[in-house]
Amino acid sequence: MIDKTQRIVGGRLKTMLADGAYCSILDLRDAEDRNVDLLAPVPENSSTNKRKTASGEPQIPRSKFTYDATANSYTCPAGHTLPYKERQRNHRFGGRMLDQYRYQCSAAHCQSCPLASRCLAGGNARTIRRMEGEELLEAQRIKMEREDVKACYALRGQTVERSFGDAKGNRRLERFHGRGLTRVRTETGLLVLAQNLQLVDRLQRTATNPSKNKT
Ligand code: SF4
Repeated sequence: MIDKTQRIVGGRLKTMLADGAYCSILDLRDAEDRNVDLLAPVPENSSTNKRKTASGEPQIPRSKFTYDATANSYTCPAGHTLPYKERQRNHRFGGRMLDQYRYQCSAAHCQSCPLASRCLAGGNARTIRRMEGEELLEAQRIKMEREDVKACYALRGQTVERSFGDAKGNRRLERFHGRGLTRVRTETGLLVLAQNLQLVDRLQRTATNPSKNKT
């Protein structure tokens, strides 16, 4: 999508605003490789956040474990080290692969730990998973907290989201009205054409009579 857009705008795309669906590790990597600043929130993993332990209590979340890149290990809330254990290859869209690394605390520590009832969800030792390139997500979370980034991202509501609102609210496009890619492409094209014509008309009116057309 970035490459297509760059071809259309002659390489002038520098910053891209998107929703969380476009903020995976691979998306961030692709944007970085193309020198495009991707502003999008990192989606939270809701299933991980809601995991319960055997006692039914909410499990101590992964965010309470500290990663040490130099030692390639995690430290748990009780202060024990979870060393690297193994790697698993994961398939991603488009035939791409991402490694997932597993870190595990020793069973001896976990079994005698006062936090065990809130930490272990099965098995006798806590395991933490980390994706290859996860540091990109961590950096993205920090970036999205910056005031200048928040201000820029807020523009999305005034630009892209307006088109979606217009499509749904004014043009009955809650769903497409025909089946098949050709019809969907045609309907999308007509919608974009209509919205662009309206915008051109508004800009022309504003240029002719700035005091009457302030929007
Ligand atoms: S149960 Fe294991 S991983 Fe969890 S806090 Fe205790 S020692 Fe650390």
